[in-house]
Amino acid sequence: MTLNVDAGGRWIDPDRVESCIQALSQYGAHGETGVARLVYSPEWVAAQDQVAGWMEEAGLRVERDAVGNVWGYLDGQHRERPTVATGSHIDSQNPGGRFDGALGVVAGIAAVAALRERHGQPQQTIGVVSLVEEEASRFPTANFWGSRAIVGRIAPEEPRRMRGYDSVTMAEAMRDVGLDPALIEEARRDDIETFIELHIEQGPHLEQEDIPVGIVDRITGYRQYLVMLEGAANHAGTTPMDLRRDAMAGAAEIISGVINTAHRMGRPCVTTVGRVNVSPNERAVIPRQVAFTVDARSPDPAQRELLLARHEALIAEVAQRRDLSVNLRVDSDRPPVACDPDVVAAITAAAAEGGVPAITMTSGAVHDTMQFAEIAKIAMIFVRSRGGISHSPEEFTSAADAAAGTEVLARTLHTLAYRR
Ligand SMILES: [Zn+2]
Repeated sequence: MTLNVDAGGRWIDPDRVESCIQALSQYGAHGETGVARLVYSPEWVAAQDQVAGWMEEAGLRVERDAVGNVWGYLDGQHRERPTVATGSHIDSQNPGGRFDGALGVVAGIAAVAALRERHGQPQQTIGVVSLVEEEASRFPTANFWGSRAIVGRIAPEEPRRMRGYDSVTMAEAMRDVGLDPALIEEARRDDIETFIELHIEQGPHLEQEDIPVGIVDRITGYRQYLVMLEGAANHAGTTPMDLRRDAMAGAAEIISGVINTAHRMGRPCVTTVGRVNVSPNERAVIPRQVAFTVDARSPDPAQRELLLARHEALIAEVAQRRDLSVNLRVDSDRPPVACDPDVVAAITAAAAEGGVPAITMTSGAVHDTMQFAEIAKIAMIFVRSRGGISHSPEEFTSAADAAAGTEVLARTLHTLAYRR
């Protein structure tokens, strides 16, 4: 992939970025605009090979690690200094769109290729990584497989225990593509100074503000619960209301209450009840048990704590008043992650230099970058998503917006990796 500079002083050619997105979307193409590219599938292998090929064409030194992450390096003059890295993931939802993840990989290669052509060898090595898996679309609990391997957060028994929707284990899937699950530890890195991920916004804010690029200063924290309420099943016609232990009545109050709590607290708090199971689930029987999920998020640590405290207090109060037993299971929990202020400042300055309109914002979705926060300074660059849609074949980002984000990425990497 060769990069060129247009008369307006832009470092990035929108057509090159766009054509790579189009080319990558053919691996696992689903319908007109969708992509179904699950980790370690044949189409995923072919896509990762394509990415490695583009890295080589761009003059990068290519390495593959123990879980299949592909790294392309533009080596710096000072090899002893840590690496400035960028990248994203190339697996997709089943099906998802062309841009989620893929754009960050394509943008990373385009940005580094432009830097090499314009500025030659950097002081510090720049790495572009195409991560193996973020979406958990083949294995329900594999989220961030590639980035977790890099930061050393994969437990030794996970590859054997983890089973995909196709009932293949992660260990088998890895062996099928020539990787040895016993060597995962070798993917671990301690030499990454900074990680910057470019990603589609997956939300409506940039479109609402009519701005192409967002600079992420904080990634949301979340907690996901499974709430199980248990009362007593009984006849729907003969049991007086005051004598019931109705699990549905409790669930209805709690579900409405938690959603309204987030609604009243306002942006950026969000609470979602996405799954409900009712037992016995009959027309004329008072439900004995209702189990439902609660997903609550805020990027602000104090606000997240307040939101969660209100949810938990409500659940306890309703259960007690309605004489229901309650089991509150926390399935996942992550505090918000702050991006590095110096990196955020570098991105902000890069956007101004490149003439790209940008605003600072928080990320309500979680990303591989959150994993990198354990070992590196992090930040993210968002580009506008049409209609705020993602995880769908309808997902769309214009070539101009994709190039604008890539421009900001290239200039940021220049600031960070070419300084003496
Ligand atoms: Zn993504």
